[in-house]
Amino acid sequence: MKSFETKRNNFINNYIVISQVLFFLLMGVLLFRTTNVSFEDLYIKSNTIIVFLLLLALIPLLQMISPRFSNSQVFLDVTIVGIYIVVAVFFLSKEYDDLFKIVLLMPVIIMALKYGVRMALFTALVLSSVLFMIGYFKHFIDIDADIVFSSVLFLLAWLLGNMTETEYSIRTELERLATHDGLTDIYNHRSFQNLLDQELEKAQKENNSVSLILLDIDYFKYYNDAYGHQEGDRVLVSLAQILKETVGKLGYCARYGGEEFGVILPGIGIHRAKDIGEAIRRRIEESNFPGVNVFPKGKLTASIGIAEFPLNANNKEKLIKKADEALYRAKFVSKNRVESYYSVFDEVSLPLKEEEKELFNSISAFTMVINAKDRYTYGHSLRVMEMAKNLSLRMEVEAKLIQEITFGALLHDIGKVEISREVLNKPGKLNENEWNLLKMHPVWGADIVDPLKSFYRVKEIILYHHENYDGTGYPSGICGEDIPLGARILRIVDSYDAMTTDRPYKAGMSLEQALEELDRYSGTHYDAVLLKEFKKMVLEMDEAQNQLS
Ligand code: GH3
Ligand code: MG
Ligand code: MG
Repeated sequence: MKSFETKRNNFINNYIVISQVLFFLLMGVLLFRTTNVSFEDLYIKSNTIIVFLLLLALIPLLQMISPRFSNSQVFLDVTIVGIYIVVAVFFLSKEYDDLFKIVLLMPVIIMALKYGVRMALFTALVLSSVLFMIGYFKHFIDIDADIVFSSVLFLLAWLLGNMTETEYSIRTELERLATHDGLTDIYNHRSFQNLLDQELEKAQKENNSVSLILLDIDYFKYYNDAYGHQEGDRVLVSLAQILKETVGKLGYCARYGGEEFGVILPGIGIHRAKDIGEAIRRRIEESNFPGVNVFPKGKLTASIGIAEFPLNANNKEKLIKKADEALYRAKFVSKNRVESYYSVFDEVSLPLKEEEKELFNSISAFTMVINAKDRYTYGHSLRVMEMAKNLSLRMEVEAKLIQEITFGALLHDIGKVEISREVLNKPGKLNENEWNLLKMHPVWGADIVDPLKSFYRVKEIILYHHENYDGTGYPSGICGEDIPLGARILRIVDSYDAMTTDRPYKAGMSLEQALEELDRYSGTHYDAVLLKEFKKMVLEMDEAQNQLS
């Protein structure tokens, strides 16, 4: 859009330069043709030609050195108009052809094209006055022609000036339509991408940072389902307003997608961005939208993810991805929450040797593939990792093993990378083939981490995390203490999280229901001792959570 504006200005400026060059050349020719040759004339002519040449050289030069659309540009344009007037007066006050009046059309055209109707009419007024003043000195011998000519000047100014202004308003309106979201009137997705490109490029040059906030409304489907999309749209409009007010001049707010928003914060680091994100979250939570009782928490809330360039990502795609990951972490941890990007993988891989880190990084890339296939896996792996680590701590497991259990929990579903999206997200029951396929994921997962030699115990945890205590599990059917401790812990934590998580096709169980369900299989599927401690842990965590809210 910006380039249209530049294109247009370039065109007008070129037009002015070229028409001036042509005009003055033309006038030089006219000068020779319309006068009798005498010594006196020759003297005047040669002087005039020198003046022309000077003007010719001066105008393009002035235009080149003057930066476009600044005060000096206006000054330059007024100077050009002045030069035209001087030239016209010079010719008209002598006994030259009246044809030179035509020169006076140029300033009107230039001012109309560049500044619109008012400036053009003003120019026409000045020129007409000049015309009549010359007429006065010539005793009004040509008054009829002067009246006609000055009328033409005014009509031309009026027409061209108005056309320019209409074109300008159409252009700005089109620009607005193309860059802003029709509903919320903040930047649209395309502008978001363009602005981010632009700001990142600038930050790269200036060695500066840019933070990106992504926001997604929590449980928005409930609101739409309860009141319809029109009411939902009204909420989106108010939310955009809140964003605009909170962010102010610090950055750009955009509607990223349906009920997702993006804020670009140039020159702002992740800590400050987190404060801004927190301010947005709080304002949304505190504002009173009609009908918020349909939301689980009785108020409208949003989850926010933040990432920083170049700290977390070195290009646009990665930056958006990292902010998106942070957003999903916010969603899956508890919603109504601000999370800045950090990689569990970076943190977890710290104790690894350098050469193993590289391998680990490529392995953890698989979890991103699974994440893309099945969004629920990502949050699931993180929660399972947290719970498995905590349970290991409570069971007073030795430090090295806790580390391995943490890895195992994080990577336990990695074998699902081999399974298709359809099977992973299938709402109904799996058929026998699909079920057999799914049952292979512990084996495939173990194969994937096999090249990491120091991961041999992690590999076992992954391989056996679906074994039952009574030997009825898969893939090997081993039982009791033969199942590695980490795998037994994972078996409980994994089941609990699967039970309590909402899926698109079914709501998750409550904490009590899930514990009851686990209890039913105590000693058969699950290690009873571990399960007892796990239940205690979950109840304590729940109590702590309740005290907080
Ligand atoms: P979550 O907490 O996981 O974000 O749950 P959610 O219900 O908000 O789910 P999601 O983020 O996937 O939001 C998708 C819903 O947003 C679907 C649709 O009802 C609503 N939505 C998307 N775009 C629009 C829109 O332009 N107008 C309205 N009124 N609703 C929209
Ligand atoms: Mg969404
Ligand atoms: Mg949402």
